[in-house]
Amino acid sequence: MAVQISPSLTASPPDRIPPAQSACMQLRLRYDLYNRALDEIGCAEPLIAACVKAGGGKIWNGDRFHYMGDYSALAPYTKFPFLALIPQYVTERILGERLLEEGIKVHRPFKVVDLKVNELDPNITDAIFEDGQVVEARYIVGADGARSIVRQTAGIRYADPDGDDITGKPIKQAIAADVVFTSPHYAAPNEAFFVLSSGNFFISVPMPGSSYDGQEVWRIGFGVSQGVPPQFPSTEYLQDLLDAYGPACIPSSAMPDRVPLKIKKTIWSTRFRTHSAIAETPFTRLFDKGGVIVLVGDAAHLHPPTGGQGMNLGLRDSVFLGPILAEHLKRSTQASATYERAELDEPLKQWAAVRHAHALKIISVAKRMLAVFSCKNEITWYFGVIPINWMKVRNIGMWISELTGYSRRMNAWNLSGLASR
Ligand SMILES: Cc1cc2nc3c(=O)[nH]c(=O)nc-3n(C[C@H](O)[C@H](O)[C@H](O)COP(=O)(O)OP(=O)(O)OC[C@H]3O[C@@H](n4cnc5c(N)ncnc54)[C@H](O)[C@@H]3O)c2cc1C
Repeated sequence: MAVQISPSLTASPPDRIPPAQSACMQLRLRYDLYNRALDEIGCAEPLIAACVKAGGGKIWNGDRFHYMGDYSALAPYTKFPFLALIPQYVTERILGERLLEEGIKVHRPFKVVDLKVNELDPNITDAIFEDGQVVEARYIVGADGARSIVRQTAGIRYADPDGDDITGKPIKQAIAADVVFTSPHYAAPNEAFFVLSSGNFFISVPMPGSSYDGQEVWRIGFGVSQGVPPQFPSTEYLQDLLDAYGPACIPSSAMPDRVPLKIKKTIWSTRFRTHSAIAETPFTRLFDKGGVIVLVGDAAHLHPPTGGQGMNLGLRDSVFLGPILAEHLKRSTQASATYERAELDEPLKQWAAVRHAHALKIISVAKRMLAVFSCKNEITWYFGVIPINWMKVRNIGMWISELTGYSRRMNAWNLSGLASR
């Protein structure tokens, strides 16, 4: 949650020492590097220094291996033609350090519980905190996640843009964990490695050793199709999934050097749901008449993590919002300001329309990927006479796509963010 405070109308700013960074270790595929968003705010260099640079990865689809995408093919379009693999807490630390360089301090923990239109100036919003403090703000940027209190208080609808289940019966819940294996993973240390089995998936992505005291750590993930996964899956639980859906599914004829993967220790684990939602708009005025309210990140859009797009999209929302808010503030505080409110808000409306459109595209990509990952090796009858095995259809599609070179080039292009900033 970012509350941008109007310089002239600031209540005493909170002055508590923020706690240490969240221990939550989410691996982030940093695609933004490709489309320069993070470069523009001076964060690309430290992120690149801290990440694993991957050229792509391999995927076993039940029939054969495929390459997931060739990121080096992006070289003509970007100075960052690779997948940057980095834990979320490192990304957050680097962003925080950059803010400090600009003299901006993030205050934590402070919880907003309500928003009200200021009684003296309708352009001001009173942000009411749990401890009773009130901050008068000209701009409220709700970066407060999927359960955003800012969005809820402003009455902005948040729902799946397609209703339920447009993609058939995709995996609804999944787990992720950072683990150390007993012996080296057969995937290269700079390569993502996926296994698709009937109705489930296994992903494994190398983490930078520098973030884990030099240990060889892999982020792994699986779908969970039956029962409710534990909140913090144990090593035993993860090992069972690994045995059922991991590389053990690959026949030795396709992978002669395969040895069973055993988990030595689990550093972090979690469960999550794979649903989607989008705010009907990421910009409004509080109750139509009040101050500016904008939403960025999961507060504005949510989708399955397939494709690793969520945080990337949220960062782009924010990077492109910055100059527009700065201009809005400048215009609205000019002594000779004669702007009508509608005219003043027009750039914010345009930003909102563009971000909404990009979010819809990303939601659609992530859902399609999840549907592809969820295909079952079984026959479904259509109209009682047409049998279709969606896993076989998918695999034929992947084969043609690889033969033509389409998947290598287009997967990298689409997921890089170059196609949709
Ligand atoms: C398993 C998994 C893997 C993922 N992998 C990737 C990936 O590889 N690449 C990628 O780009 N994305 C990925 N994502 C998505 C990514 O994690 C999210 O999109 C991203 O964390 C959203 O950031 P956010 O700041 O909008 O929301 P959040 O991360 O939810 O942060 C919201 C913040 O607001 C604070 N807050 C909430 N309510 C209040 C309040 N009332 N007052 C004050 N503060 C409040 C919270 O404490 C929190 O600090 C993944 C997600 C999952 C679940």
